[in-house]
Amino acid sequence: MNTTYKINEIFFSLQGEGFQQGREVVFIRLAGCNLRCSWCDTNHNDFWPMTVKEIIEDISKYNCKSVIITGGEPASYDITALLQALKDNGYWIAIETNGTFDLTQWHQLLDYISISPKGNIRNSKASEVRVVNSNITADFLKEIESRIDADHYFISPLDNKGEMNIKESLELVGQMKKISSNHWALSLQIHKLAGIQ
Ligand code: SF4
Repeated sequence: MNTTYKINEIFFSLQGEGFQQGREVVFIRLAGCNLRCSWCDTNHNDFWPMTVKEIIEDISKYNCKSVIITGGEPASYDITALLQALKDNGYWIAIETNGTFDLTQWHQLLDYISISPKGNIRNSKASEVRVVNSNITADFLKEIESRIDADHYFISPLDNKGEMNIKESLELVGQMKKISSNHWALSLQIHKLAGIQ
């Protein structure tokens, strides 16, 4: 319980995207990422240290037993102590990751794995895949689905300072219907449309 993590923010909200859209969750955002995507809106430099005990105490003020560990890139840290404490306290645990770190060691502790693949993918299984439409092609999505076996596949419009390429993303969904046996769907970030965190 003394292991310390770099916390960027902890807050209660609704999951805004993907298959768990609308679910009440507590977000635990760890600071720092191994990548630097041009569209990234995460502040990588703001953080404060919190022990596992402090994190568990902090999130217990919310009447919510679901957490999403996000970032930054949470899998760039050894999150075993945090996951074990959350599991011991009865939480449903999801992780949002860019897929560049092997998650196998945590499969037993994670209830839901959401991969937004970027860089060198090191995972072949996920609950869901969410691909940001940063001028991607249907061929790229075919490549992703050949490398990651997921229960759900989503295309997320790119948010370029409030401008989202929703129309282009819908066209991509249509293209995937023709060439893929997997069901690719549009994932809108409803928290941004609703103006909530
Ligand atoms: S992987 Fe995610 S957190 Fe990391 S730089 Fe890219 S968008 Fe930002």
